[in-house]
Amino acid sequence: MTPRPAIATALAEAIGHTPLLRLRLASARTGCEILAKVESVNPGGSIKDRTALGLLLDAERRGLLRAGGTIVEGTAGNTGIGLALLGASRGYRTVITMPQTQSREKIDALRVTGAEVRLVPAVPYANPEHYAHQARRLAEAMNQADPGSAWFADQFDNTANRDFHEATTGVEIWEQTGGRIDGFVCATGTGGTLAGVGRALKARNPEIAIALADPAGSALASYVNTGELKAEGGSISEGIGSSRVTANFDGAPIDLAWSIADTESVPWVHALIHEEGINAGGSSGVNVAGAVRLARELGPGCTIVTVLADAATRYQAKLFNPAFLRDKDLPVPEWLVRAFPE
Ligand code: PMP
Repeated sequence: MTPRPAIATALAEAIGHTPLLRLRLASARTGCEILAKVESVNPGGSIKDRTALGLLLDAERRGLLRAGGTIVEGTAGNTGIGLALLGASRGYRTVITMPQTQSREKIDALRVTGAEVRLVPAVPYANPEHYAHQARRLAEAMNQADPGSAWFADQFDNTANRDFHEATTGVEIWEQTGGRIDGFVCATGTGGTLAGVGRALKARNPEIAIALADPAGSALASYVNTGELKAEGGSISEGIGSSRVTANFDGAPIDLAWSIADTESVPWVHALIHEEGINAGGSSGVNVAGAVRLARELGPGCTIVTVLADAATRYQAKLFNPAFLRDKDLPVPEWLVRAFPE
């Protein structure tokens, strides 16, 4: 891992090298050290800047993206934001397909980067209208009209995603903890973070437990525990959960997996910001809930690491909206009602 330069002369150099922050409440509740990589400090506000950079560097190295060419990707938003910022920084156009159910804040962030955003209906992966298939077809059509003009980033099945997490996120965690780490846990969307960090840590110490915190509505916890892709319920979290095994997730070294309900994860989002000053989004709530479960599994005195993938304020209209929370049967903290009287 190259150290962060004193002065970054390109946006790419400002990605990664994120702080590892001790979570006071989760640590006190478990008697373990619960630590989290604060990924919202990346230039695009999420861990997916790493994915965007890893995919882009790989494409440039392999000659898949010509100067001034077009990046095409299907995304829940965060990867698109990373790609669009890097595209602006490196002279590429960016075209994004995205389900229309994603937060207004992410859609707006994409629009101001200059990316062309195409909102599509949220349908299962098996449906040809799924945003990932639409992005692939769009790149194919552009390449038919002008060969070599477009590159489909393919974050779900392009394992340059996982490899970049292995080389950056995983190595950073090993170095920041000085190798004193008993477990790593997170949710997955593409699987890049969990598989990459899992591989980096297991290669250095196979005793480190790797765990999946899966949101309700995702089929992966069931897949890890029983071999069967089975989903129940749903979640308000964005960017995580899957109905299929992606190339990035496939073969990830996972020891434990749990399905985590919003009633368990969302209170963590509220406690983190209100009691600890940590602005972390819905997937981070799932990750912290998973870290607490892993700590209980490993016992007092252990050190657990997770990631805070992005900020809660990226979902202001959902996570801090009493009416929205009530509608989803989720607990509404009293301070939130006072802050936003209806
Ligand atoms: N949290 C958020 C907020 C995300 O946007 C994503 C990526 N879609 C993830 C977690 C999951 O990360 P990964 O794709 O590496 O599994």
